[in-house]
Amino acid sequence: MFDRTLETLAPDALRAHQWRRFRAMASELLASNPFIARKWRGAGLASVEELRGWEDFGRIPLMRKSELAADQAAHPPFGSNLTYPLERYVRVHQTSGTSGAPLRWLDTQESWEWWARCWGLVLRGAGVGPADRVFFPFSFGLFIGFWAGFEGARALGALAIPGGGQDSPTRLAWMEALGATVLVCTPSYALHLVEVARERGVDLRRLSVRTTVHAGEPGAGIPAVRARIEEAWNARTFDHGGMTEMGAYGYECAEQAGLHVNESEFILEVLDPATGRATTDGELVLTNLGRVGSPVVRYRTGDHVRLARAACGCGRTFRRLEGGILGRLDDMLIVRGVNVFPAAIEGVVRRFSAIEEFQIEVFKDGELDEVRVLVELGDAAGLPRLQEALRATLGIRLEVAAVPARSLPRFDLKARRVVRR
Ligand SMILES: [Zn+2]
Repeated sequence: MFDRTLETLAPDALRAHQWRRFRAMASELLASNPFIARKWRGAGLASVEELRGWEDFGRIPLMRKSELAADQAAHPPFGSNLTYPLERYVRVHQTSGTSGAPLRWLDTQESWEWWARCWGLVLRGAGVGPADRVFFPFSFGLFIGFWAGFEGARALGALAIPGGGQDSPTRLAWMEALGATVLVCTPSYALHLVEVARERGVDLRRLSVRTTVHAGEPGAGIPAVRARIEEAWNARTFDHGGMTEMGAYGYECAEQAGLHVNESEFILEVLDPATGRATTDGELVLTNLGRVGSPVVRYRTGDHVRLARAACGCGRTFRRLEGGILGRLDDMLIVRGVNVFPAAIEGVVRRFSAIEEFQIEVFKDGELDEVRVLVELGDAAGLPRLQEALRATLGIRLEVAAVPARSLPRFDLKARRVVRR
């Protein structure tokens, strides 16, 4: 473990630890963070003295990404969710802009170190240690993505190898030359490298990579995607949960039984998105405790999760999200009355090893969503089998169509495989 004391705290001690940190942070935010002070006072919370215990935590209003975007538009370029004067901040990053305009986010020296520690838990959970050489095929631009992972590798004492500014064949060559043992990237990019290796006649199994760690997409939590990456790389594949505005909050352990939420640094809630009541299957709502300079408190992530009941065999007491992130709540499609998550379609498509890439076309048939799944499949004879597998899993018949090899887009970072026509 990265921090055995914290990762195995008894539930009561963990709650007490969270409350102490939250109370101290809340006092600072009310005093000097204009965005939070305005929001909380607007909800009737005037003083930190009113936060006497967990029963008062529910009084704190939920936070949404749209509010942060509106605040940044009103107070450019960084918004007013800042607790300190600008000179205290040392890094700026932004979200990938998967949905809407990118959010900018500032970090202080302290919160940048905090990021590194959070990623230390992620990498340690995947069994990475000081002897490892961790390769990051990442552009190292404004997107925070694997910048923080890079810092995490350093915090752990591993050798961090930057793979920016290179094309995929060069990255493969450097991984081999430098003896990389760990690959950190999106699941889509790990699969893309498999294709590139095959085209170039590179045998990935000859490389020393034994662990892959993924983020940025739900892919690594989907069993068929994981199996495909593990088989091609001859490695064990680990999922991780994180967001630019939140931090690296979730990680897998050797049991690979869902994502542990790092509850020493984040307060975990799962709420019914319609009623806001606590539940075990609903929207992930998180509060970070280590980023006082640019905090998110009771933040609606829009991610659909399910809490695991049983304790984990690894001995960590942090709760787990079963199956990782199950999908984006706003990505859910309703096809002929049936709820369909794109991640569930991916889970079926990835079982077919002949399919390199796919796309989900969504179009309106009157008022209803209709879906067509395009797959790169040389032999159309496989289509009926795919259609039957989709029907058996999703309970609905979807149209499938074959398209030529390499005709669909490839992705370095977050894949966008759902296309609305
Ligand atoms: Zn565990």
